Amino acid sequence: MTAVESAGGRVTAVVLADGTRISAPVVVNAAGPWSGRLNELAGVGADFTVGVRSMRQEVAHVLAPEGYRGPAVADVDLGTYFRGEVGGGLLVGGTDPD
Ligand SMILES: Cc1cc2nc3c(=O)[nH]c(=O)nc-3n(C[C@H](O)[C@H](O)[C@H](O)COP(=O)(O)OP(=O)(O)OC[C@H]3O[C@@H](n4cnc5c(N)ncnc54)[C@H](O)[C@@H]3O)c2cc1C
Repeated sequence: MTAVESAGGRVTAVVLADGTRISAPVVVNAAGPWSGRLNELAGVGADFTVGVRSMRQEVAHVLAPEGYRGPAVADVDLGTYFRGEVGGGLLVGGTDPD
């Protein structure tokens, strides 16, 4: 979505990157870390009091031990975790930002 159109204080449509225009009386912002940018497109950024910022965390994607089917495990005191990933991988990460 590259634009949000509105009239009379109401959303009327969204415009996609290829120029397609989709009429929409309601637009749900589910853009995760990009949600602030979408609020700006809709012209509601100034009214939105919850801030969003990017945060860098180190995560390694490694091969899981053969046959690994374990749960996600986290040590919140140390701020580390690992969990299985599709394709026999394992995500090993930290929860503290840089
Ligand atoms: C490495 C890693 C591991 C994780 N592991 C776990 C886990 O094990 N368990 C867990 O619960 N959570 C995990 N998370 C967190 C989880 O991924 C997020 O909490 C979740 O994806 C948030 O979902 P969301 O739908 O809010 O946002 P997102 O998944 O970020 O989705 C937002 C979507 O909006 C789209 N978008 C952005 N801007 C636009 C635009 N202008 N127009 C159209 N589309 C747009 C993006 O392309 C994206 O697809 C992990 C995150 C990371 C990075």
